[in-house]
Amino acid sequence: MEQLRIPGPTPCPDEVLQAMARPMINHRGEEFGRILHEVTAKLKQLFLTKGDVFLLTASGTGGLEAAVVNTLSPGDKVLSVEVGVFGERFSTIARQFGAEVIPISVEWGRAADVADIRRALASEPKIKAVLVTHNETSTGMTNDLAAISSVVKEFDKLLLVDAISSLGSIELPTDKWGCDVTVTASQKGWMVPPGLAMVSVSEKAWQAYDRAKMPRFYWDFKEAKNYLEKGQTPWTPMVSTVFALAVSLDMMLQEGLTNIIARHVRVGQAARGGIKSLGLALFAEEKYASNTVTAVSTSDGLDAKKLVKVMKEEHGIVLAGGQQSLAGRIFRIGHLGWVTEDEITTVIAALKSALPGVGFSKTK
Ligand SMILES: *Cc1c(COP(=O)(O)O)cnc(C)c1O
Repeated sequence: MEQLRIPGPTPCPDEVLQAMARPMINHRGEEFGRILHEVTAKLKQLFLTKGDVFLLTASGTGGLEAAVVNTLSPGDKVLSVEVGVFGERFSTIARQFGAEVIPISVEWGRAADVADIRRALASEPKIKAVLVTHNETSTGMTNDLAAISSVVKEFDKLLLVDAISSLGSIELPTDKWGCDVTVTASQKGWMVPPGLAMVSVSEKAWQAYDRAKMPRFYWDFKEAKNYLEKGQTPWTPMVSTVFALAVSLDMMLQEGLTNIIARHVRVGQAARGGIKSLGLALFAEEKYASNTVTAVSTSDGLDAKKLVKVMKEEHGIVLAGGQQSLAGRIFRIGHLGWVTEDEITTVIAALKSALPGVGFSKTK
Protein backbone atom coordinates (compact mmCIF):
# COMPACT_ATOMS: atom_id res chain seq x y z
CA MET A 1 0.00 0.00 0.00
CA GLU A 2 1.09 3.55 -0.69
CA GLN A 3 2.53 5.57 2.16
CA LEU A 4 0.78 8.96 2.17
CA ARG A 5 3.32 11.43 3.51
CA ILE A 6 1.67 14.76 2.74
CA PRO A 7 0.56 17.20 5.43
CA GLY A 8 -3.10 16.29 5.06
CA PRO A 9 -5.12 14.39 4.22
CA THR A 10 -3.19 11.95 6.36
CA PRO A 11 -3.39 8.15 6.67
CA CYS A 12 -6.24 6.78 8.77
CA PRO A 13 -6.32 3.60 10.87
CA ASP A 14 -8.59 0.85 9.53
CA GLU A 15 -11.02 1.17 12.45
CA VAL A 16 -11.46 4.84 11.58
CA LEU A 17 -12.09 4.12 7.90
CA GLN A 18 -14.53 1.34 8.75
CA ALA A 19 -16.52 3.76 10.89
CA MET A 20 -17.03 5.86 7.74
CA ALA A 21 -18.92 2.93 6.19
CA ARG A 22 -21.60 2.91 8.90
CA PRO A 23 -25.15 3.36 7.62
CA MET A 24 -26.56 6.85 8.04
CA ILE A 25 -28.57 7.74 11.11
CA ASN A 26 -30.97 10.60 11.83
CA HIS A 27 -28.81 13.65 12.46
CA ARG A 28 -31.65 15.08 14.54
CA GLY A 29 -32.12 11.89 16.53
CA GLU A 30 -30.97 10.81 19.99
CA GLU A 31 -28.15 8.54 18.87
CA PHE A 32 -26.44 11.26 16.88
CA GLY A 33 -26.92 13.64 19.80
CA ARG A 34 -25.11 11.23 22.09
CA ILE A 35 -22.21 10.85 19.66
CA LEU A 36 -21.96 14.61 19.14
CA HIS A 37 -21.85 15.30 22.88
CA GLU A 38 -19.19 12.61 23.41
CA VAL A 39 -17.04 13.81 20.52
CA THR A 40 -17.29 17.42 21.73
CA ALA A 41 -16.30 16.47 25.29
CA LYS A 42 -13.31 14.48 24.04
CA LEU A 43 -12.21 17.29 21.75
CA LYS A 44 -12.24 19.66 24.73
CA GLN A 45 -9.85 17.31 26.52
CA LEU A 46 -7.43 17.41 23.60
CA PHE A 47 -7.82 21.15 22.97
CA LEU A 48 -7.25 21.62 26.73
CA THR A 49 -10.16 24.02 26.92
CA LYS A 50 -13.15 24.56 29.15
CA GLY A 51 -14.62 26.85 26.51
CA ASP A 52 -16.91 25.84 23.69
CA VAL A 53 -15.87 23.53 20.87
CA PHE A 54 -17.92 23.21 17.70
CA LEU A 55 -17.79 20.89 14.72
CA LEU A 56 -18.30 22.66 11.41
CA THR A 57 -18.83 20.77 8.21
CA ALA A 58 -15.97 22.25 6.24
CA SER A 59 -12.29 21.88 5.57
CA GLY A 60 -9.95 23.95 7.72
CA THR A 61 -10.41 27.09 5.66
CA GLY A 62 -14.10 27.18 6.60
CA GLY A 63 -13.02 27.19 10.23
CA LEU A 64 -10.70 30.15 9.58
CA GLU A 65 -13.56 32.05 7.94
CA ALA A 66 -15.77 31.22 10.93
CA ALA A 67 -13.13 32.61 13.31
CA VAL A 68 -13.08 35.89 11.41
CA VAL A 69 -16.77 36.48 10.73
CA ASN A 70 -17.91 35.63 14.26
CA THR A 71 -15.56 38.01 16.06
CA LEU A 72 -14.92 41.01 13.80
CA SER A 73 -16.67 43.88 12.06
CA PRO A 74 -15.93 45.53 8.72
CA GLY A 75 -13.35 48.27 9.30
CA ASP A 76 -11.77 46.55 12.30
CA LYS A 77 -8.01 46.69 12.36
CA VAL A 78 -6.37 43.29 12.69
CA LEU A 79 -2.73 42.37 12.94
CA SER A 80 -1.97 39.34 10.79
CA VAL A 81 1.23 37.41 11.30
CA GLU A 82 2.06 36.00 7.88
CA VAL A 83 4.84 33.47 7.70
CA GLY A 84 3.73 31.51 4.65
CA VAL A 85 0.87 30.53 2.36
CA PHE A 86 -1.62 29.84 5.15
CA GLY A 87 -0.87 33.04 7.03
CA GLU A 88 -1.57 34.94 3.82
CA ARG A 89 -4.82 33.02 3.39
CA PHE A 90 -5.96 34.03 6.89
CA SER A 91 -5.26 37.69 5.99
CA THR A 92 -7.14 37.34 2.72
CA ILE A 93 -10.23 36.02 4.47
CA ALA A 94 -10.22 38.92 6.95
CA ARG A 95 -9.71 41.43 4.13
CA GLN A 96 -12.51 39.94 2.01
CA PHE A 97 -14.91 40.55 4.88
CA GLY A 98 -13.82 44.15 5.25
CA ALA A 99 -11.21 44.06 8.01
CA GLU A 100 -8.29 46.41 7.71
CA VAL A 101 -5.40 43.97 7.76
CA ILE A 102 -2.03 45.12 9.05
CA PRO A 103 0.35 42.38 7.95
CA ILE A 104 3.56 41.39 9.64
CA SER A 105 5.55 39.41 7.12
CA VAL A 106 8.71 37.49 7.67
CA GLU A 107 10.87 35.71 5.17
CA TRP A 108 9.29 32.32 4.49
CA GLY A 109 10.95 29.57 6.49
CA ARG A 110 11.53 31.84 9.45
CA ALA A 111 9.42 32.20 12.57
CA ALA A 112 7.49 35.33 13.52
CA ASP A 113 9.50 37.73 15.67
CA VAL A 114 7.67 38.48 18.92
CA ALA A 115 9.37 41.88 19.12
CA ASP A 116 7.76 42.86 15.78
CA ILE A 117 4.35 41.89 17.12
CA ARG A 118 4.89 43.91 20.30
CA ARG A 119 6.00 46.94 18.28
CA ALA A 120 2.98 46.72 15.97
CA LEU A 121 0.55 46.40 18.88
CA ALA A 122 2.18 49.29 20.72
CA SER A 123 2.04 51.59 17.71
CA GLU A 124 -1.60 50.93 16.76
CA PRO A 125 -3.89 50.81 19.81
CA LYS A 126 -7.00 50.31 17.65
CA ILE A 127 -6.00 46.77 16.66
CA LYS A 128 -8.83 44.42 17.69
CA ALA A 129 -7.37 41.02 16.99
CA VAL A 130 -4.20 39.17 16.09
CA LEU A 131 -4.33 36.41 13.47
CA VAL A 132 -1.58 33.85 13.67
CA THR A 133 -0.68 30.50 12.13
CA HIS A 134 0.67 28.18 14.81
CA ASN A 135 2.24 25.65 12.46
CA GLU A 136 2.90 27.00 8.95
CA THR A 137 2.44 23.91 6.82
CA SER A 138 3.75 25.56 3.66
CA THR A 139 7.22 26.24 5.12
CA GLY A 140 7.51 23.50 7.77
CA MET A 141 7.83 25.94 10.65
CA THR A 142 6.12 26.24 14.05
CA ASN A 143 5.74 29.68 15.58
CA ASP A 144 6.43 30.18 19.28
CA LEU A 145 2.75 30.59 20.08
CA ALA A 146 3.32 30.70 23.84
CA ALA A 147 5.50 33.79 23.45
CA ILE A 148 3.21 35.36 20.84
CA SER A 149 0.14 34.80 22.98
CA SER A 150 1.74 36.36 26.03
CA VAL A 151 2.35 39.58 24.07
CA VAL A 152 -1.14 39.52 22.55
CA LYS A 153 -2.66 39.06 26.02
CA GLU A 154 -0.45 41.78 27.51
CA PHE A 155 -2.21 44.14 25.06
CA ASP A 156 -5.54 42.41 25.79
CA LYS A 157 -6.27 41.61 22.13
CA LEU A 158 -8.32 38.82 20.66
CA LEU A 159 -6.13 35.93 19.47
CA LEU A 160 -7.36 33.92 16.48
CA VAL A 161 -5.21 30.88 15.80
CA ASP A 162 -4.85 28.69 12.73
CA ALA A 163 -3.85 25.47 14.48
CA ILE A 164 -5.01 23.32 11.60
CA SER A 165 -1.80 21.30 11.30
CA SER A 166 -0.70 21.49 14.95
CA LEU A 167 -3.57 20.87 17.33
CA GLY A 168 -3.63 17.27 18.51
CA SER A 169 -0.01 16.77 17.39
CA ILE A 170 2.05 19.68 18.74
CA GLU A 171 1.62 21.20 22.21
CA LEU A 172 -1.16 23.79 22.22
CA PRO A 173 -2.96 24.30 25.52
CA THR A 174 -5.82 26.45 24.21
CA ASP A 175 -6.92 28.05 27.49
CA LYS A 176 -3.48 28.42 29.06
CA TRP A 177 -2.22 30.27 25.99
CA GLY A 178 -5.33 32.43 25.78
CA CYS A 179 -6.34 31.35 22.28
CA ASP A 180 -9.76 32.88 21.70
CA VAL A 181 -10.66 30.97 18.57
CA THR A 182 -8.53 27.95 17.70
CA VAL A 183 -9.14 26.17 14.41
CA THR A 184 -8.15 22.68 13.31
CA ALA A 185 -9.42 20.18 10.74
CA SER A 186 -10.14 16.46 10.71
CA GLN A 187 -7.76 15.48 7.92
CA LYS A 188 -4.59 16.73 9.63
CA GLY A 189 -3.36 15.30 12.94
CA TRP A 190 -6.67 13.69 13.85
CA MET A 191 -6.28 10.56 11.69
CA VAL A 192 -9.68 11.15 10.11
CA PRO A 193 -10.72 11.87 6.50
CA PRO A 194 -11.56 15.45 5.47
CA GLY A 195 -14.97 16.96 6.18
CA LEU A 196 -14.85 18.63 9.58
CA ALA A 197 -13.31 21.77 10.99
CA MET A 198 -13.14 21.91 14.78
CA VAL A 199 -13.10 25.29 16.49
CA SER A 200 -12.86 26.43 20.09
CA VAL A 201 -14.47 29.65 21.27
CA SER A 202 -13.39 31.45 24.47
CA GLU A 203 -15.38 33.76 26.73
CA LYS A 204 -13.54 36.73 25.24
CA ALA A 205 -14.45 35.52 21.74
CA TRP A 206 -18.12 35.43 22.78
CA GLN A 207 -17.85 39.02 23.97
CA ALA A 208 -16.39 39.91 20.57
CA TYR A 209 -19.22 37.97 18.93
CA ASP A 210 -21.79 40.23 20.58
CA ARG A 211 -20.26 43.26 18.86
CA ALA A 212 -19.16 41.63 15.60
CA LYS A 213 -20.99 42.81 12.49
CA MET A 214 -19.42 40.85 9.66
CA PRO A 215 -22.04 39.03 7.58
CA ARG A 216 -22.39 35.40 8.53
CA PHE A 217 -24.92 32.67 8.16
CA TYR A 218 -23.56 29.14 7.80
CA TRP A 219 -20.75 29.72 10.30
CA ASP A 220 -22.73 31.45 13.05
CA PHE A 221 -21.31 30.34 16.41
CA LYS A 222 -24.51 31.14 18.31
CA GLU A 223 -26.47 28.84 16.04
CA ALA A 224 -23.85 26.15 16.63
CA LYS A 225 -24.11 26.64 20.39
CA ASN A 226 -27.90 26.61 20.47
CA TYR A 227 -28.09 23.45 18.40
CA LEU A 228 -25.32 21.69 20.31
CA GLU A 229 -27.39 22.07 23.47
CA LYS A 230 -29.97 19.88 21.71
CA GLY A 231 -27.28 17.44 20.50
CA GLN A 232 -27.42 18.77 16.97
CA THR A 233 -25.66 20.98 14.46
CA PRO A 234 -27.59 23.79 12.73
CA TRP A 235 -27.10 22.24 9.31
CA THR A 236 -26.70 18.63 8.20
CA PRO A 237 -23.24 17.63 9.43
CA MET A 238 -20.66 15.42 7.75
CA VAL A 239 -22.09 12.43 9.64
CA SER A 240 -19.55 9.85 8.40
CA THR A 241 -16.58 11.94 9.46
CA VAL A 242 -18.20 12.40 12.89
CA PHE A 243 -18.39 8.57 13.18
CA ALA A 244 -14.74 8.35 12.21
CA LEU A 245 -13.72 11.09 14.63
CA ALA A 246 -15.48 9.29 17.48
CA VAL A 247 -13.20 6.30 16.87
CA SER A 248 -9.99 8.29 16.38
CA LEU A 249 -10.56 10.37 19.52
CA ASP A 250 -10.81 7.17 21.57
CA MET A 251 -7.50 6.04 20.07
CA MET A 252 -5.93 9.41 20.83
CA LEU A 253 -7.14 9.49 24.43
CA GLN A 254 -5.94 5.92 24.84
CA GLU A 255 -2.44 6.93 23.70
CA GLY A 256 -2.64 10.12 25.74
CA LEU A 257 -1.96 13.69 24.59
CA THR A 258 1.48 13.84 26.21
CA ASN A 259 2.54 10.64 24.44
CA ILE A 260 1.13 11.83 21.12
CA ILE A 261 3.06 15.08 21.36
CA ALA A 262 6.24 13.20 22.33
CA ARG A 263 5.79 10.84 19.37
CA HIS A 264 5.56 13.81 17.02
CA VAL A 265 8.74 15.24 18.54
CA ARG A 266 10.54 11.94 17.84
CA VAL A 267 9.11 11.65 14.34
CA GLY A 268 10.07 15.26 13.57
CA GLN A 269 13.60 14.66 14.81
CA ALA A 270 13.84 11.47 12.74
CA ALA A 271 12.73 13.37 9.63
CA ARG A 272 15.17 16.26 10.14
CA GLY A 273 18.05 14.00 11.13
CA GLY A 274 17.41 11.78 8.11
CA ILE A 275 17.23 14.71 5.70
CA LYS A 276 20.49 16.16 6.97
CA SER A 277 22.19 12.74 6.82
CA LEU A 278 21.39 12.68 3.09
CA GLY A 279 23.21 16.00 2.64
CA LEU A 280 19.97 17.90 2.09
CA ALA A 281 19.09 21.15 3.86
CA LEU A 282 16.00 22.01 5.87
CA PHE A 283 14.02 24.94 4.49
CA ALA A 284 12.85 26.19 7.89
CA GLU A 285 15.00 27.75 10.53
CA GLU A 286 15.89 24.62 12.51
CA LYS A 287 15.08 25.99 15.94
CA TYR A 288 11.46 26.41 14.82
CA ALA A 289 11.26 23.39 12.49
CA SER A 290 7.87 21.72 12.64
CA ASN A 291 7.21 18.32 14.16
CA THR A 292 4.30 17.69 11.79
CA VAL A 293 5.81 18.60 8.40
CA THR A 294 9.38 18.85 7.17
CA ALA A 295 10.17 21.16 4.27
CA VAL A 296 13.37 20.36 2.39
CA SER A 297 15.27 22.82 0.18
CA THR A 298 16.03 21.74 -3.34
CA SER A 299 19.56 22.88 -3.80
CA ASP A 300 22.37 21.23 -5.72
CA GLY A 301 20.46 20.49 -8.90
CA LEU A 302 17.66 18.57 -7.25
CA ASP A 303 14.48 18.44 -9.37
CA ALA A 304 11.69 18.42 -6.75
CA LYS A 305 8.91 17.65 -9.19
CA LYS A 306 10.76 14.65 -10.57
CA LEU A 307 11.61 13.49 -7.04
CA VAL A 308 7.96 13.53 -5.98
CA LYS A 309 7.09 11.50 -9.11
CA VAL A 310 9.87 8.93 -8.62
CA MET A 311 9.07 8.54 -4.93
CA LYS A 312 5.46 7.74 -5.78
CA GLU A 313 6.01 5.56 -8.81
CA GLU A 314 9.05 3.62 -7.65
CA HIS A 315 8.73 3.66 -3.88
CA GLY A 316 5.00 4.06 -3.23
CA ILE A 317 5.63 7.10 -1.04
CA VAL A 318 3.58 10.22 -1.69
CA LEU A 319 5.40 13.45 -0.80
CA ALA A 320 4.18 17.03 -1.22
CA GLY A 321 5.79 19.71 -3.35
CA GLY A 322 6.02 23.40 -2.50
CA GLN A 323 3.05 25.76 -2.77
CA GLN A 324 2.91 29.04 -4.72
CA SER A 325 6.33 30.70 -4.83
CA LEU A 326 7.84 27.65 -3.13
CA ALA A 327 6.90 25.34 -6.04
CA GLY A 328 10.10 23.67 -7.20
CA ARG A 329 12.06 25.23 -4.34
CA ILE A 330 11.10 22.71 -1.68
CA PHE A 331 9.48 19.35 -1.17
CA ARG A 332 7.65 18.39 2.00
CA ILE A 333 7.25 15.28 4.12
CA GLY A 334 4.06 15.18 6.15
CA HIS A 335 4.38 13.39 9.49
CA LEU A 336 1.30 14.09 11.54
CA GLY A 337 -1.41 11.93 12.99
CA TRP A 338 -1.01 8.22 12.43
CA VAL A 339 2.75 8.05 11.94
CA THR A 340 5.72 6.25 13.47
CA GLU A 341 9.49 6.70 13.40
CA ASP A 342 9.81 3.49 11.36
CA GLU A 343 7.74 5.00 8.59
CA ILE A 344 10.06 8.01 8.48
CA THR A 345 13.07 5.69 8.33
CA THR A 346 11.46 4.06 5.28
CA VAL A 347 10.95 7.47 3.65
CA ILE A 348 14.57 8.46 4.24
CA ALA A 349 15.84 5.15 2.82
CA ALA A 350 13.68 5.60 -0.28
CA LEU A 351 14.92 9.19 -0.71
CA LYS A 352 18.49 7.93 -0.50
CA SER A 353 17.94 5.60 -3.42
CA ALA A 354 15.85 8.11 -5.43
CA LEU A 355 18.07 11.20 -5.08
CA PRO A 356 20.92 10.26 -7.46
CA GLY A 357 18.38 9.79 -10.28
CA VAL A 358 16.82 13.25 -9.90
CA GLY A 359 19.86 15.48 -10.28
CA PHE A 360 21.08 15.58 -6.70
CA SER A 361 24.83 15.31 -6.82
CA LYS A 362 25.97 16.33 -3.38
CA THR A 363 27.94 13.77 -1.44
CA LYS A 364 28.61 14.18 2.21
C1 LIG B 1 -4.25 22.42 5.67
C2 LIG B 1 -4.13 23.77 6.23
C3 LIG B 1 -5.06 24.79 5.96
C4 LIG B 1 -6.16 24.63 4.97
O1 LIG B 1 -7.01 23.68 5.29
P1 LIG B 1 -8.09 23.10 4.25
O2 LIG B 1 -8.56 21.97 5.11
O3 LIG B 1 -7.39 22.68 3.02
O4 LIG B 1 -9.10 24.13 4.04
C5 LIG B 1 -4.92 26.01 6.57
N1 LIG B 1 -3.92 26.25 7.42
C6 LIG B 1 -3.00 25.32 7.70
C7 LIG B 1 -1.88 25.66 8.64
C8 LIG B 1 -3.07 24.06 7.12
O5 LIG B 1 -2.14 23.13 7.39
